Amino acid sequence: MGNNEQTCIFCDIINGKIPSKILYNCDDFIIIEDINPQAPKHFLAIPKEHFAFLAHCTDTQSTVLGKILQTIPQLKQVLQIDDFRIIINQGKSAGQTVFHLHFHILGGKEFGNF
Ligand code: AMP
Ligand code: ZN
Repeated sequence: MGNNEQTCIFCDIINGKIPSKILYNCDDFIIIEDINPQAPKHFLAIPKEHFAFLAHCTDTQSTVLGKILQTIPQLKQVLQIDDFRIIINQGKSAGQTVFHLHFHILGGKEFGNF
């Protein structure tokens, strides 16, 4: 469940209590389709261990985050993306709505420079 014994909607997806379109699953993280896509391709890479903020990240969790970043480019065929953008929202004002750390993976369109 995670270091601080919290649960959330992403924990429920990881536990299989809530259905989702899982495109990749390994010991440490899953990649799912975002339910409300903001680009033609919009995925979420979610560590299996619950924690909300980079500020609380342990060495083990940071290794998982590195593994996610290393794996995403290897999954271009699975995700059917070419170029992509990765975003992590941290805090309410930044747009974070689910307080279980996750990477947004966005692709399938031309992005501007913010
Ligand atoms: P954030 O706003 O950065 O916390 O991102 C949360 C994301 O989770 C949003 O893009 C939501 O559309 C997405 N989301 C919420 N519930 C689900 C769900 N059940 N399955 C897939 N994506 C979800
Ligand atoms: Zn969680």
